[in-house]
Amino acid sequence: MKLTDRARFSTICIHAGQEPDPATGAIITPIYQTSTYVQDGLGQPHAGFEYGRTQNPTRMALERNIAAIEAGSAAFAFASGMAAIDAILTRLQSGDHVVVSDNTYGGTFRLFERVRRKFGLDFSYVDTSKPELIGPALTPKTKYLFIETPTNPMLHITDIRCASTIAHEKNVRVVVDNTFASPYIQRPLTLGADIVVHSTTKFLNGHSDSVGGVVILKHDDDVEWMKFVQNAAGGILGPMDSWLVLRGTKTMTVRMERTNENAQVLAEYLEAHPKVKRTIYPGLASHPQHALARKQMKGFGGLISFDVGSLEAARGVLNHLKLMALAESLGGVETLISHPAIMTHASVPADRRAALGITDGLIRISVGIEDVEDLQADLAQALETL
Ligand SMILES: *Cc1c(COP(=O)(O)O)cnc(C)c1O
Repeated sequence: MKLTDRARFSTICIHAGQEPDPATGAIITPIYQTSTYVQDGLGQPHAGFEYGRTQNPTRMALERNIAAIEAGSAAFAFASGMAAIDAILTRLQSGDHVVVSDNTYGGTFRLFERVRRKFGLDFSYVDTSKPELIGPALTPKTKYLFIETPTNPMLHITDIRCASTIAHEKNVRVVVDNTFASPYIQRPLTLGADIVVHSTTKFLNGHSDSVGGVVILKHDDDVEWMKFVQNAAGGILGPMDSWLVLRGTKTMTVRMERTNENAQVLAEYLEAHPKVKRTIYPGLASHPQHALARKQMKGFGGLISFDVGSLEAARGVLNHLKLMALAESLGGVETLISHPAIMTHASVPADRRAALGITDGLIRISVGIEDVEDLQADLAQALETL
C-alpha cells in the first residue's frame, strides 16, 4: 500500500495516510478512543504520543489523507468548519485586514463581524468573481484574500488562479473555502492558493453524520503555526469523527461523479420548466461564468439554485416534496432542499440579501446520489401544484 508520486486522485483518496494498524494489521485505521498514552518510564523517549489533544493516530491518519487529497504539505482537523476558519485567523495580528468574497457563508460572516472584529481584525467584502475588484480592495494591511467559489446560494465563481496572481503581487496569502466544490472538483493549492479550509461536514464526510473542519497548508511557516495553535487552542476533531470522515473520503470520487451527473440532469430539467423563473447552475450555458467553470472545475458540483417567483410559490414547492428533505447543510448522499432567505440566510439583512440576489422565491438543492429519475419525479409533482 505504498503510494507512488504518480498516484491518481481516487487512489490517493483511498490510500493516502492509511497504513495497516501496527498492532493487528487491521486495514482500516482504528478509532483510537483514548485521552492519554502510557509512558515507558520517567523521562524515557516515547512513541510520539503523549496526550490526546496533541496527538491522536486516527486524527493524524485523516490529516495525512486530506493533505494528500488537497495537494498540501500538511492538514489539521478541527471540531467544525467554523473552528477551522477561526484557527487560520489566529495567524493574523490585531490591525490586519482580510478581503472576503461578498457572498460568503453566513457563519463565516458572523465569525468575522461579531467575534474577530472585536479583536482588531478588519474585513471588507467584495465580489471576487470580478477580478478587477480585487486589486483595489487590497491595502497595505491586507494579509488574506478569503475566497469562496462557488458561493452559496448564488453560485458565483471566482477564478482562483487569477485572484492568486493579483493577491501575491501584494504579498497577500490566498485562502479558499473549498467546502462547496470538494477537492474532486477543484484543488485550490494547485491553482495558486496558499491555504484551503473545509467544513468536512459536507462533501468530504458525505454522509450527514458528523460535523468537522480541516485546514490544509502549503507553506512551512503556516504549518508550524497551525500545529502549535491546534494544540494550544485545542479545537480538535475527535477520533470517532475523524474515522467517519476517513471513511467518507474513500468514496469521494464515486459520490462526486454521481452528484455531478444528477445535478446536471436536474438543472437542465428545472431550466426548461415553465413554472421556474430562473435556474442557477455552473453547468448550464446560461450561467454567466460557465466558461470559467468549465476551465476551473471538474464537473459543476451538487448545488443548484432556482427561483419560482414568490415566497408563496417556494413554500408550495417545499411543502409538497416527498423525497427531498427540507434541511440546512449539503454534501450528503441524500438530497436536501432549503430556502435561503428564511433558513440559511435569515441573519443577513433584507437589503443585503436583495443586493446579493437572494429573493424570497429562491430555493437551493444539494443534490444527492439517489436515482435521478426519482429526484426529477419528486420535483415534477411538487412544481405541478403551483
Ligand atoms: C457549512 C460550511 C461552513 C461551516 O462549517 P461547519 O462544519 O458547519 O462549522 C463553512 N463554509 C462553508 C462554505 C460551509 O458550507
